[in-house]
Amino acid sequence: MSYCVAHGCNNKKDRKDCRTKSFFGFPLKNLSFVKTWMKMLRRDNFQPSPYSKICSDHFDESCFEYQPLTNRRQLKPGSIPTIFVFSKATSSRRVLDRCLPTTFTET
Ligand SMILES: [Zn+2]
Repeated sequence: MSYCVAHGCNNKKDRKDCRTKSFFGFPLKNLSFVKTWMKMLRRDNFQPSPYSKICSDHFDESCFEYQPLTNRRQLKPGSIPTIFVFSKATSSRRVLDRCLPTTFTET
């Protein structure tokens, strides 16, 4: 079963209203990316497994590419989840920056 590990997100693959969502695994082959994802998730102690998934809600539309025949959503290499809902906002700035895979810097 696939469910989203993002904070405050309850999306699951088998939920009816999640049918249009995609679930992506962590880029486990690239540890520095995993670290960046974790930072965005704000889950420092979280150990992603091959079954840990993040749903498409947390990626900017520009992070996706669509397969020509099936129209299945795929994540572009180097994409970083940027859209999260944290119950206690530490700053007034919402995390809605566009993902810029090659120029991503910590703020
Ligand atoms: Zn989610």
